[in-house]
Amino acid sequence: MRHHSYLLITFLIAAIVGGVALPIDTADGLTGPVEFVSANDETRYAEAPPAPDLSAPSVASSAAKLKLPILVYHIVRPSFPSDSQAVKNIAQTPEVFDAQMQYLSDAGYHVVSFGDLENHYRSEAALPDKPIIISFDDGWSNQFHYAFPLLKKHRYTAAFFVFTNPIGSNKNFITWDELREMRDAGMTIGSHSRSHPYLTTLSDPTKLWNEIAGSKERLEKELGVPVTEFAYPFGQYNPSIVAMVEKSGYKSARGDRYYRGEQTASRLFDLDAMNAPTDLPAFKQKFP
Ligand SMILES: [Zn+2]
Repeated sequence: MRHHSYLLITFLIAAIVGGVALPIDTADGLTGPVEFVSANDETRYAEAPPAPDLSAPSVASSAAKLKLPILVYHIVRPSFPSDSQAVKNIAQTPEVFDAQMQYLSDAGYHVVSFGDLENHYRSEAALPDKPIIISFDDGWSNQFHYAFPLLKKHRYTAAFFVFTNPIGSNKNFITWDELREMRDAGMTIGSHSRSHPYLTTLSDPTKLWNEIAGSKERLEKELGVPVTEFAYPFGQYNPSIVAMVEKSGYKSARGDRYYRGEQTASRLFDLDAMNAPTDLPAFKQKFP
């Protein structure tokens, strides 16, 4: 219920401010131009902040726990006075994002990929000290224009979970050519479904398969590389959805409803993640 109330409030706020023209701007030294995006659009697909950890599924105490936080970003762009609270809750300015990335290396963190995590569990490949994964959801154009150059600057890899329907037809989203550029720069492109539905509400297995396996097929056709990571839209899933994600050929899947800051081998299709804090002090506190 908390989840739905939050979404309703988010929607109402977004509906009130949605459509307000945001000034077009570019940040110094970064590529532009920035696409116009209404506040309504930017928060429509954003996952609600994780609920307190009280109801997180329990894991057998014998399971080895690996401390490996997974960060989730949605919007990285300059802030505007007209930004709604809903946007402010999930957005980082390029300056804040840059500072957060710098802090990670200063604090001894090592950015790894989902593939590194999968290999660690499947082939016992070693991970560096203080590993951390960076990921982005929804495929907004601002991620390409602002976050991608900063990731390259810091020589980090990150995973971009995109849903395929708006790609190439909605200018607010990263294009196929841009995704290919990101792929060539070492970024992971993962699937976030075709239409970003609540997968748990889809009762038709054919529709569900199309969202999960169909999106993978489309991405692989366009990008020419295996797409092996999935992120559940709105962080929603159940055992039959998890089974279908596995059957589709994905190697891992990321949720975001529970944050424990650690992973276990038994939860490769329920990877633990958190929305990144929106300022540097909170970020430092979360990742000492
Ligand atoms: Zn999403």
